[in-house]
Amino acid sequence: MHSDIAPWTTTNAMVLMKPGQPMKSKMLKIRNLAPDQVLVELKATGICHTDLTVASGNFPLSTPAILGHEGAGVVKAVGGKLINRYQPGDTVILSFNSCGQCHSCDNGSSAYCRDMAEVNLPHTPSTGERNFELDGIPVCNGFFGQSSFSRMAIVDERSIVKIPGLTSEELVTLAPLGCGIQTGAGAVINNLSVTPESSFAVIGAGAVGLSGLMAAKSRGAGTIIAIDLLESKLELAKELGATHVFNGKDPELVEKIVDLTPKTGGIQFVLDTTGVPRVLEQAVTFAGIRGRICTVGLTVPGTTMKLDFMDMMHRGKVFTGSIEGDSDPQKFIPFLVDEFRAGRLPLEKIVRLYRFEEFQDAWEDLANGRVIKPIIRW
Ligand SMILES: [Zn+2]
Ligand SMILES: [Zn+2]
Repeated sequence: MHSDIAPWTTTNAMVLMKPGQPMKSKMLKIRNLAPDQVLVELKATGICHTDLTVASGNFPLSTPAILGHEGAGVVKAVGGKLINRYQPGDTVILSFNSCGQCHSCDNGSSAYCRDMAEVNLPHTPSTGERNFELDGIPVCNGFFGQSSFSRMAIVDERSIVKIPGLTSEELVTLAPLGCGIQTGAGAVINNLSVTPESSFAVIGAGAVGLSGLMAAKSRGAGTIIAIDLLESKLELAKELGATHVFNGKDPELVEKIVDLTPKTGGIQFVLDTTGVPRVLEQAVTFAGIRGRICTVGLTVPGTTMKLDFMDMMHRGKVFTGSIEGDSDPQKFIPFLVDEFRAGRLPLEKIVRLYRFEEFQDAWEDLANGRVIKPIIRW
C-alpha cells in the first residue's frame, strides 16, 4: 500500500540551534520523504547520555539539528522503495543506522558497520539529511538514522525494527531498547556470554549498567555485583537482583570483590560502563581466572590505560570493547521485547516519563543522575 506524506506538513520538535545551548521547542516544516525513508509518529523517545555528549559540542555536528536516538512509534507514511515492507499503522522501535553494504552488515554485525560514524552522526552539511525546515532554513536530521526528538520523525530504512502489535504502553516503556538497553543487555548476552551460576560485576548503575545487570540475572549468574558512586543507584541495583553492591570510592574495593569469589580468584564477567581508565585498571585487577572484561563506556579518542601483561597472560584474561551490544537490532530488539513481556527485563523500574513540555527537566535530571532513564511522551 503506497502512502502519502501530504497530510503531514508540520511537526513539533526539540531543535539544537547551537552546540552547548539548551534545545528549543520549534514547529518545523516537513519537506520531503525519500524512497528509502519512513515517516514515523513517535509515541516516546528516551534520552541517552550520548545525546548529552553530542549536544554539548564534543562531536562535530551541523546545526540546527534534531538529536534523539531512542524512539518508538507508529508508521504514518512509507517511501516508494519500502512499500512492500511497511504499512501505515505498523508499530516500530527505532535503533542505530548502518550502511547495509560492508562486511559487518553482511554478516549480522551491523553494530560494527564500517561507516558507523558517517551514517549515525550527521556532522557535515552534506551528510545530514534535510527533511525538515525552520523558517526557510534546512534542519539537519538523520541522527542515528532517526532524529527522534521530534513528534514526526523521518527514519532511514535500517533504523526501523518492526514489532507487530506493540501496545501504546509498550511503545512508551520500550522506546529506549534501541540504544541504551540494547547496549547493556547485548554486552552481557552477545559479548560477555555470561553463564549460569557465574560471577558478574557491573561498574556504573545507570540505564546501560542496570540493563546489563538484568540480563546477567536472566542468564542465571549467581553472584551479581553492582558498583556506583550513588547510593540511590545501588539500592535500585539490589532491587533488580544485585547480590552485593559497593561504592566505587571504597578503598578496599578490589580485595572485597576478590574475596567473594575464591574459586575463580575474582569475577568471571565484568561490564564497565564508565570508560574511565583508572576504573578499568581496577576492573582488570578484580577480574578472575579467564575473566572477561568488556567496556561500553563512551570516551574521547586517544584515551589509554595500563594493562599488566603478566596478569593478563597467566590468568588468561580477555579485555574487550563493545558497541550497541554487538547486536543486530532486527534480531536482538524482538528478543528484548520478549524478555520484557516475560518479566525478565523490568524496564518499568528504571524509567521515568516526562511530557514534551518537561523536556528540559528530563534532560537535566539525566545529567545530574536524578533519573536512570528519562522518556519523553509525545
Ligand atoms: Zn555497514
Ligand atoms: Zn544512546
